[in-house]
Formats: sequence, structure tokens, C-alpha cells
Amino acid sequence: MAHALPAGLPLALLDRFGDIPPACSLAALRKVVDTTFRDAHYKEALLGLRERADEPLALYVHVPFCHVRCLYCACNTTITHSEERVDQYLDMLDREMAMVTELIGPGRVVDQLHVGGGTPNHLNEPQLARLMEIVERHFALLDHACTSIECNPRRTSAGQLDLIYGLGFRRVSFGVQDLNTNVQRAIGRVQSLDMVRDVYLTARETGFESINLDLIYGLPFQTPASFQATLDRIVELGPDRIACFSYAHDPLTRPHQHAISLDDLPTPVEKLSLLHQAVETFTDAGYRWVGLDVFARKDDELTCAQEERRLYRNAIGYTPMPGKQVLGFGPSGIGEVSGALVQNAADLRTWQRLIAAGSLPVGRGRRLTDQERRRREALLYLMCNLELPASSARWLGNEYERFCSHAGQGLLVVTDDKIQVTEAGRYLLHGLCVSQDASLDWVTTQWQATAES
Ligand code: SF4
Repeated sequence: MAHALPAGLPLALLDRFGDIPPACSLAALRKVVDTTFRDAHYKEALLGLRERADEPLALYVHVPFCHVRCLYCACNTTITHSEERVDQYLDMLDREMAMVTELIGPGRVVDQLHVGGGTPNHLNEPQLARLMEIVERHFALLDHACTSIECNPRRTSAGQLDLIYGLGFRRVSFGVQDLNTNVQRAIGRVQSLDMVRDVYLTARETGFESINLDLIYGLPFQTPASFQATLDRIVELGPDRIACFSYAHDPLTRPHQHAISLDDLPTPVEKLSLLHQAVETFTDAGYRWVGLDVFARKDDELTCAQEERRLYRNAIGYTPMPGKQVLGFGPSGIGEVSGALVQNAADLRTWQRLIAAGSLPVGRGRRLTDQERRRREALLYLMCNLELPASSARWLGNEYERFCSHAGQGLLVVTDDKIQVTEAGRYLLHGLCVSQDASLDWVTTQWQATAES
């Protein structure tokens, strides 16, 4: 089985947009982060929320623990087997939520909750219950709220899934990554198809309304044939959603990735062809390609939102509910509050120390200017809905002309009414948009980092 690429893809642009080199991402981070953004600025943003007391909020809670480190991991996590350490984290999470709700008002209504990691189901059952007790003591979670949690299938049991469902979670996401044994050995994450199937079917029996499976393309030893076998098995399972992320090899900032040899990784062209394989396989099986990296059923709310051009992406992920204020909790938790992007300190001890000292644990942030905010919204709209009305395209500002120049390369179609992404353009869209807006890179980098449990 040979590598195949989408028709019309301009290979000459691959270096520029196909796979963003980690060094570029770091440069973008430096460019966008306002190092003077501190807890006083976050307080000001939170006080802005107090004035909109009726507005439902979205919460992201980061659980920064795993029992073992996967070699490809790009997430913010700590390897621990100490229950005491997790208890201390929960103590601080409680205090962090108390600090935030003191500013925005107690009992604020929440209609979206996502618990990610790390491995949220690394917590034992009393700890999982305590986590939800903390959330529900500080916030009023609506009965019909969209509640989701990331789980590692190797840590999942039927009893645990029952508990998680009983705590109110209705969506669950499992990290599969790849089902080939050679690939699994190379990434330090061996989990058999039987085990994944068993966990998946148990989650179905438990009653979860939506099950997502995560895959990663660009891993060592992935070949067209091996990856196809993984894709076929995933289709047979029939999850509601499939996320297919790009592997980012950056051993300088993630030293554990040194265990993965560059020689074993697919080339950028081969990597893109793996994505193409996923697109072909899942769309042939009836899924719709949503945004950059998600495949959802035809009747999924994300699919409908994309078809109706109202899909949005916030710090939690794709959503049909645009404009929501997102509060991030836990180390490296990301929020979007009153026009500011805020990320907590990523280091567990720093996050704990700041909270213990009575400060909001801000690691970095940026208050976007009106122009930055509109430009970011225009690019997000394009990345989610694959077109941009001319009335919004003007918010691309100085970059508009450069952006339109890609029409000649087959990535975009530009008319008087709108900019539209071509089928080939979808494969390079992330790089194309990130190169236009560093604040987008800041957020999308973290989105990827939080979705690999
Ligand atoms: S990939 Fe997920 S499960 Fe593996 S170490 Fe990273 S956060 Fe933990």
C-alpha cells in the first residue's frame, strides 16, 4: 500500500504550512505572551464577568497526573503514584475555584464542563467524586450541561465508568492513538485492540451519550498499511467522534521524546498522506470531517454546526456555542475571559505555591485588543466553517492580501462575497492560519496538548 496525497495539494507549500516546526511555535508563543499579564489583570477580567451574572460559563479543569509517561506525550502532566499528592491538588483546586467565584459571584451557572489532563481517571473513585463535589459546590452545573471527561483506557474499569456516569458526565473520550503493536511499543503505550474494544463497549453499555476516540498520525513506524488497519478497526467500533491529531516531535522541550528516533518517523509528505488516509476512510464510512482534526457523525451537533456555518472553537475544543466565557482551572488550565486569554502556571508546584499565597495562579496571558480579537475570530471562523464572509475578511487587516495570494496556489477561492477553503487547502489550513495570528497558535497548541490522555 503506497502513500497517497489529496489531489491538487501544492507540495512546495508543505515546508511552510504542512507541519509547523516546534521552533516556530515557540517563537509564536514569545511573540504573543504579555509577560506583564499577572493576577491583577486576570482579576480585572474576572470582575468583568461579575457584571454579566446571567451568562452561563464553560469550565475546563486540568488534572495533571498520569501513572506512566507515554513517549510521544505533549501534555502537561506529572507521573505520580501518590494519592496524597492528588489529594493536595484537589485541596488547591478547591481554593482556586473559591478565589475565582469570590470575584465573579458564587453559584454561577455552567453549561459546559470538560475535565482533561493528564489522565483524569488516574484519580481513584473517592477523588473523582471529590473533584465533582468541588465543582458543584462552587458552580451551578445545569442538568443538560455538556459534560465531558478524558480517560485512559488502560486505567478504566466498568465500576469506574459507572461512577463517572453517575457523577454526571455524558461524554467520554479515550486515547487510542494507534492499534499497531510496533507503533505502540515505539511510543511506550501498549494497549490491545481487545482491551480498547472492551472499554469502548462498556462505556456504551454504561449509557454515555457520546464516545470519542483519539488517534495520532505521524507516529514512529506508522505505514499506510498499518495505519489503515487501525482506521478500519476504529470504524468497526463506530464511535460518535474521532479526533485525529498530528504528532509533534520536539525533544528539546519534551526530553522523553528523545526515546523516539527521527529515523523511525514518517516524512512530512508521508505524514500528510496518513491524514489523507484518515479523511478518506472516515468520510467513506459516513463521518464528516469537522474543522481541522475531528470526524463526527452526520447528525452530530458539530457536523450540523459546521454545515450551518456556526461552528466555533474555544479553549475546550469545537463547540456549536460561540462566544462562551471559559474558566480554566488546574496547572496549565486555559481560559478565555472578558477578551483575555489566560493560562495558569503549568508547573504543579508553582501553581500550588501561588494559590497557597492567595494569588490567582496565572502563568501567562494576553488581553487582546479589539483588532486582535476580531482578527482571531475571523480566522477561527475560517478554520471552523471553511469560509469567511467578505465583511469579516477585512479583519484580517494587513495580512488580507497575503492570505488571498494562496488562492493562486489552490488553497483558497476568493470571490467578492467570501474566502472559501478548497479541499486541498484544508490539509494546510492550520499552518496557513497560525502563520497569520500568533494568538491562535497559542490556543491551538494547547488544545492539542490537552487531548491525548
Ligand atoms: S499522552 Fe496522555 S496518558 Fe500518556 S503521559 Fe501524556 S497525558 Fe499521560
